[in-house]
Amino acid sequence: MNGNFNTVNSFHSLKCPTCNGDCILPARKLLDDILGMYMACGSCPPDPVFSKNIPLSNNIDDHTGLCPECKKRHLDFVMGNVLTILKEKGLFPRDALLREVGTPLISFGYQIPYPPRLGSKDIVLIMDSITKDIAEEIIKKVPEIKGVIKRKGLQSQSIGILDTDSSPHTYELLSGCDMRCDVILSLFGELCIYKNQSRIHIEFNNTKIKKMEELYLRGELENAVVVDGFCGPGTLGLLSVLGGARKVILNDAWLPALRNTILNIKVNSSLLGINMVFENQDHNELIGDEPLLLAKATGKSEVMVYHGDIRKLDMVVKESDICIIDTFPSINPARFMGACKDLSKKLVII
Ligand SMILES: [Zn+2]
Ligand SMILES: [Zn+2]
Repeated sequence: MNGNFNTVNSFHSLKCPTCNGDCILPARKLLDDILGMYMACGSCPPDPVFSKNIPLSNNIDDHTGLCPECKKRHLDFVMGNVLTILKEKGLFPRDALLREVGTPLISFGYQIPYPPRLGSKDIVLIMDSITKDIAEEIIKKVPEIKGVIKRKGLQSQSIGILDTDSSPHTYELLSGCDMRCDVILSLFGELCIYKNQSRIHIEFNNTKIKKMEELYLRGELENAVVVDGFCGPGTLGLLSVLGGARKVILNDAWLPALRNTILNIKVNSSLLGINMVFENQDHNELIGDEPLLLAKATGKSEVMVYHGDIRKLDMVVKESDICIIDTFPSINPARFMGACKDLSKKLVII
C-alpha cells in the first residue's frame, strides 16, 4: 500500500526538468487522454484548403481559424501564423511557402488517422533559418508553439554523440521548451517516452519495435537479463521490462539521453511495475567513460542505468542473455560488437 501511495504522489510532483512547467503527464493519464487529445470538436471549422505549393496571400494571426468552442485549430493555421511573423520580420520572402517554415513535431507524438487540431503548446518546431529574437516572438504570438529549435548541420546528421571521442552534435533550443513525448505501441504494452528534442535523435522508426516484438514472441525477453547498450531515452530497455525481463541494464555515453531515461522510468513506473530506489542527480560529465551507476529501480524487474562507454561496460556487467545494439544509422555497429559479445550470450542489432 505504502509503495503505491508514494508512486501516486510522485506523479503529481513531476515537473518538467527543462522549463519547470506541466510538460510531463504520467503515462497512464496520457494513454487515457491521447485518443481525444487532437480530435476536432463538433464546432471545429472544416479543414482549411491551403496549398502547400502556393504562397499564403492572407496574414494569419492567433485568431485565424480558431474554433470558438474548443479553442483549437488546424496545423496549417498554426504554421501560417508562424510564416506571417517570419515574413513581417523580413526573414522569409513574401512568396515563401508554408512547407518552408520548418518541421512541426506534435508534443505528444501518436499515430492519429486525422489532421490534428492543436491547442496551447502542442507543437515543438524545428527550423533551419531562425534567430533567437524571432523565435521568442513566435513563442509569444503563436500559442500552439511550445518550443523553437534551430537545426544545425545536415538533416541527416544524428543528434547526440556518435562515439565517446567525438564531440556532441546538438540542435539549439532558442525559445520555450523542447520536452516532448512519443507514445510507443507494442504487442505487449505501451510506453510514453519523453525526450529533450534538441538533444536526442529524432526517430520515426517502427522496425525497432517490430524487432522487440519478435524477441518477445519467441519468449526471449521472459525472465532474461537484457543490456540496452546505446539506450538513448530508454525505449528498447524499458520495452524489455514490459516484455518480462528480470533485469535490464540501460547504458549510454550521452548524459542528456540518460536524464531522459530516468524521467521515463518515473513517468512509466506504474506501467512497468518498478520504482526508483537510487538516483545520482549531481553527476554532470556530458560524455561517459568508465561506467557510473546513475539510477536504479526495482519491482517486477531490476533496472540499472549506467553512464559509460559500452566498451567498458564489462566492468559492471558480468553476464547477460541479450545485448541490444541500437546505434545511429551512420555508425557501423561492427566496431562495438566485440565488446558486446563479451557481455552477453546473444547480440541483437536493431
Ligand atoms: Zn517543459
Ligand atoms: Zn473545436
